[in-house]
Amino acid sequence: PVVTRFAPSPTGFLHIGGARTALFNWLFARGRGGRFLLRIEDTDRARSTQEATDAILSGLVWLGLDWDGEAVSQAARAARHAEVAHEMLAAGTAYKCFASQEEIAAAREAAQAEGRSSLFRSPWRDADPADHPDAPFVIRMRAPQDGETVIEDAVQGRVTIRNDQIDDMVVLRSDGSPTYMLAVVVDDHDMGVTHVIRGDDHLNNAARQSLVYRAMGWAQPVWAHIPLIHGEDGKKLSKRHGALGVEEYRDMGYPAPAIRNYLARLGWSHGDDEVFDDSQARDWFDLGGIGRAPARLDFKKLAHISGQHFQRMSAEDILSGLAQFRAATGMPPLPPEKTSALETALPHVTGRAKTYPELLEAAAFALADRPLEIEPKAGKSLDANALQLFGKLTPHLQNASWSRDALEAAAAHVAEENDVGLGKLAGPLRAALAGRTATPSVFDMMIVLGRDETLARIGDVMA
Ligand code: GLU
Repeated sequence: PVVTRFAPSPTGFLHIGGARTALFNWLFARGRGGRFLLRIEDTDRARSTQEATDAILSGLVWLGLDWDGEAVSQAARAARHAEVAHEMLAAGTAYKCFASQEEIAAAREAAQAEGRSSLFRSPWRDADPADHPDAPFVIRMRAPQDGETVIEDAVQGRVTIRNDQIDDMVVLRSDGSPTYMLAVVVDDHDMGVTHVIRGDDHLNNAARQSLVYRAMGWAQPVWAHIPLIHGEDGKKLSKRHGALGVEEYRDMGYPAPAIRNYLARLGWSHGDDEVFDDSQARDWFDLGGIGRAPARLDFKKLAHISGQHFQRMSAEDILSGLAQFRAATGMPPLPPEKTSALETALPHVTGRAKTYPELLEAAAFALADRPLEIEPKAGKSLDANALQLFGKLTPHLQNASWSRDALEAAAAHVAEENDVGLGKLAGPLRAALAGRTATPSVFDMMIVLGRDETLARIGDVMA
């Protein structure tokens, strides 16, 4: 069975790149009946904070990326990591190194001066344990010095690293604490991780990590190192490219399903499919569809995908997404009667929205209270002629069957009878019904508002 994991370091918010890594792992596991695990890599005590962990968890929850079981704290597993370092020591795949920082620096300098590789080669690698001093030591992995280490990567293909470029890395520090490189491997092994899907900034680590698997006689996971995300200009992602944290996208009002779809398309493709839902993504996602070139942020594409999702989402999902958006951005919840007014309006407004604020804007007519505030630009159309036309239209509205066709016919009839274009009636109606100029069609608004509210709003401007 497939087991994947997301292993963020809690030193900030949930970065858009991290969110994509989490999504790929989630899709891969969920599409294969596997498990998706979460590990918080909090061993760097100075840089890890509880707030950062909370921000990452809430970002994942908002994105809908549910993980199996409890989140694992890497720091809490330090004793297990040390145990493995000592097993390596006992097996001879690691050794005690007593070199001081000064000695290491001096050896490096000397090597450099002689034009040799500046990798530190510990004199303790082949020392007789009988000669060991009674002094602090680190435990180093005994890495091969000849030949090559090969990583078969599902995205990058075969990656070969010459072993003379790999040093005997420290696995346990002199204070007994494990290094990150050891901890990752022990945790992935103990958690039963079968596929390591992560950013390609970890590709070099994979070579050294694979040596730990080998030293312990453990089966290696499938490696899949995904290219990083770049900005729209193709440069390395930074703050000037705009939103980097997932919560910024949430606060701009993009629905989570749209962000999942958009993130899935950042670096992964399935033919020409651009807009899809979760079950399609789960069915289609595979490591072979991940590209080797860095993906680029594309805010136009995001807006397009988001607009499409508004048209596909159920009313229930839209309303709950909106409630989350309002809570996240400090807006009060919509009262029940407004929620039901919005729900009635939804079929007529989702096509006009790419974000929740745009949705609220498009549905403003349905959420407004009488008497409406009329924007000056809209108010201009409410002249004497318009009010006269309203007087003629009103009896028709009182009797019309409340269908779009009947309402259009009534308006067309009044316009014709008074020898004016339909626009001369529609513009003022728009002002009376919505108080603004950018709205859904007037007939859609009438259907949403119903006969009583429509007549009341027309009455308000005639009074
Ligand atoms: N903690 C690492 C990071 O946040 C990820 C390590 C891994 O996925 O193996 O970059």
